[in-house]
Amino acid sequence: VVPVAPGPRVLEWHTVVVREDRIHEVLPTSDGRRRYPDATRVDLRGQALIPGLVNAHTHAAMSLLRGLADDMPLMEWLQTRIWPAEARFVSDQFVADGTAVAALEMVLGGITTFNDMYFFPQGAIRSAVATGIRIQSGLTYVATPTPYARSEDEYIERGLDAVAAWQGTPLVSFAWAPHSTYAASTESWDRLPQLLEAHPFPLHTHVQETLDEVDRAVAQDGLTPLARIHRAGLLRSPFAGAHGVHLRDGDLDLLAGSGASIVHCPSSNLKLASGIAPVVAMLTSGVNVAIGTDGAASNNRLDMWQEMRAAALLAKAQTGDAAALSAHQALTMATLGGARALGQEALIGSIEVGKAADLVSVDLSGVAAQPTYHPISHLVYVAGREDVTNVWVAGRPVVVDRRCTTVDTNEVLARCDDWREQIWSGRPD
Ligand SMILES: [Zn+2]
Repeated sequence: VVPVAPGPRVLEWHTVVVREDRIHEVLPTSDGRRRYPDATRVDLRGQALIPGLVNAHTHAAMSLLRGLADDMPLMEWLQTRIWPAEARFVSDQFVADGTAVAALEMVLGGITTFNDMYFFPQGAIRSAVATGIRIQSGLTYVATPTPYARSEDEYIERGLDAVAAWQGTPLVSFAWAPHSTYAASTESWDRLPQLLEAHPFPLHTHVQETLDEVDRAVAQDGLTPLARIHRAGLLRSPFAGAHGVHLRDGDLDLLAGSGASIVHCPSSNLKLASGIAPVVAMLTSGVNVAIGTDGAASNNRLDMWQEMRAAALLAKAQTGDAAALSAHQALTMATLGGARALGQEALIGSIEVGKAADLVSVDLSGVAAQPTYHPISHLVYVAGREDVTNVWVAGRPVVVDRRCTTVDTNEVLARCDDWREQIWSGRPD
């Protein structure tokens, strides 16, 4: 058992006792057999049991646009490929079907919670609930009209409809998710404190992803996007700011002083040539850092194992220090760091008594994992999502022996294929 907190411990030959949806006790396996003779036992020898991974930034429905266009500069990619496809195809059903395939990919890869930001949140919530994965659904808005809403007021209204319909549903929570300081209007950011009074949800936004974004903001009023958000009184905890690649003097202090989190998305930042976020400097300053995949259109995998490894390796090359960002730190960012960014650290992110039984078992008995001296090192530098065998969310087994038990995989794939045909035949030249 690798509980992640407190500290880099490995509890060999231990058992996690689950009662209903919670972790009831963690104890040596021999004691477990004696104390709970009637419990249903799942034998996981040769495996590591870790807390469920938290994908702290994604746009799940964009899985339907995975690989539609790659190897293009960010703005050209968005303007000529992604936005036209979204304008034409995005609907409640698109989001439900896209999120279904994303949720299946995520849960099979050991992700038990995702922090989502996309249009038609009710479509995403339906599919997440059907899959049995935890969703923090972003109430998204941008200043430009889309098939989802014509104005920021309408975006917000439709977001609140989702809250009214789903609040209180197990595994479902909400965040305010203005897209970014450049895509949502200043007026809508200024309105947010008022919305927070009625609905005190965490915040989720994109922040300082590209150099151009920061340069433009600073040219406008001398403030970085983080400084603007701070000025509006909205840099706080929980706040999940995706990317944070380009930080200026003062940004780190604002983050550290406010308790706001940055969600590191290394693969997306590499693929779109945005840069490499200064994660070690953030951690040194006391900033909480989570990990996210971003959407499958810009990654193209919803694979937290790849992100953990990329985070650890990039940090070492970036700082010239092989001791930077240890395996334990990478695993912590992908679990407890994500839980903190979502304001859910009391519920998820580590294997501790009283927390939700969001658990993932990882097979370390294969050839490529031999010999195993340090399981935590193997989890980050050796293991991959193909090694995930069993996944529980709130105590419910959603993956058993590498198969999802909650949804019909063939049905999810068939709907995905229908969309592929539609989108491919309707793609811009
Ligand atoms: Zn994003």
